[in-house]
Amino acid sequence: MSDPIYAQTWYDENSIKPPKPSDFSKKLDKYDFAVIGGGLAGLVLSLKLSQGGATVAVFESKTIGSGASGRNGGFCSTGWAASSIKIKKTLGLEKAEIFEDLGVRGFEWMKKQVSKPRYQKVNAKYGELNLSLSNFQNKKDESSLSPDDLKRYLVSSRYKSGSINKESFQFNPLNFMRILMEECLENGVHIFENCSVLKVERSQVINSFELLTEKCQKFIAEKVTYATGGYGGLCASELDRILLPIKTFVAVTDPLPDILKKHIRTEFMISDNRRAGNYYRLLDEERLLWGMGISALGNKSISKIKRDAFRDLKSHFPKLVEEINALGLTFQYVWSGLMGYSRNFLPYVGELSPNRYAVAGFGGHGMNTAPISAICLSEFLLGNRDSLNGFDEIMHLPHYGNVGKVAAEIIYKYLSMKDFISEYKPIILKYDR
Ligand SMILES: Cc1cc2nc3c(=O)[nH]c(=O)nc-3n(C[C@H](O)[C@H](O)[C@H](O)COP(=O)(O)OP(=O)(O)OC[C@H]3O[C@@H](n4cnc5c(N)ncnc54)[C@H](O)[C@@H]3O)c2cc1C
Repeated sequence: MSDPIYAQTWYDENSIKPPKPSDFSKKLDKYDFAVIGGGLAGLVLSLKLSQGGATVAVFESKTIGSGASGRNGGFCSTGWAASSIKIKKTLGLEKAEIFEDLGVRGFEWMKKQVSKPRYQKVNAKYGELNLSLSNFQNKKDESSLSPDDLKRYLVSSRYKSGSINKESFQFNPLNFMRILMEECLENGVHIFENCSVLKVERSQVINSFELLTEKCQKFIAEKVTYATGGYGGLCASELDRILLPIKTFVAVTDPLPDILKKHIRTEFMISDNRRAGNYYRLLDEERLLWGMGISALGNKSISKIKRDAFRDLKSHFPKLVEEINALGLTFQYVWSGLMGYSRNFLPYVGELSPNRYAVAGFGGHGMNTAPISAICLSEFLLGNRDSLNGFDEIMHLPHYGNVGKVAAEIIYKYLSMKDFISEYKPIILKYDR
């Protein structure tokens, strides 16, 4: 049975051909920078460093975009994995403002990228419907939707109100990664795929590190950055102590012509405002991409994720599931991926020890935050000492291994319970009277 973390995704079968990675025979004797991890953070960092005149090598365990950056929900909006309230509590008002502004800048950077003609294949579509499952409160502003307004967009009695954000966009993240890879290669970045970094040691070459990779290839670089997301653990023990690998799950249905649009009548991407909510959107051929849940412990099988997805979808769209079942259709693609989460949900961006850096830990909100963090780090590495201003107040606490995983699972269950109570509170109170 294939591991859901590496299982074939809908994107794998519906994306452009990947560019050819660099040839090992072309490697330089020494690089200015080695970047470990070919996700969004690693590639943006490499692109910016090479545009600044540095020689850069990227090392990716598998292929570019095989980590979270090429297998996620494809939602891009402002904000961070931590809520605004949590950010203010952790950083204080002044720093929080700088930090929140970075989230907006990251979003603007992505928006500019996807608007370039060469990124056309990422198929960016604007508009997000954000839904609430708790009781409708009076209309707040123009964008607020009442239960009656909602009927124009979907058929589900579970949602009580909503709002539309016209700025956020959805896109094909694997295509994004492959086009970004092309840009990096054109700018002279060397990208080595299927090349896990196993060890980083001080080199005999003065002021340098030696990176030992799979297949016993050795590389020399002056500075090393870990952009390993939730997939790290092999070579930076400091990061391993701070970031927990957390799984999350995506399922994509068979094509549902004539059925899907009766129930979900909008091309907007959709999410709900629960602490542990769902996100979903329509793909080509009238398929539904359904994103759900997190887990810190154990390994869910493909069939278990599929069962969970059906149960979850049914609880929001029971009639849709009835029709899917009646036609013998199912979820054709099911996968998971890893995200790096710190205890305060904030990333690690900066120095680990002299000439060793990290840009990782973007949780479930990386599409804007990973690029802006990488841009800030690149500016710092190219000589602008103030560019990590937003990140320098972040305290990083150890998660204590399995204790941290159990705690994360308990917190997720607790938040789900709070979501449940706030959704059903009005009904519970009614029967209590
Ligand atoms: C299923 C899923 C759905 C998500 N949905 C969304 C969404 O809709 N919107 C959003 O904003 N965010 C979403 N996220 C979060 C987002 O995808 C991540 O925050 C973001 O992609 C992190 O980027 P990264 O570059 O830090 O990590 P990654 O993209 O995971 O890249 C890290 C890379 O490092 C490589 N690596 C690790 N160790 C080594 C080593 N020793 N040697 C060489 N290579 C190594 C890995 O193979 C991996 O490719 C989702 C995440 C998942 C998993």
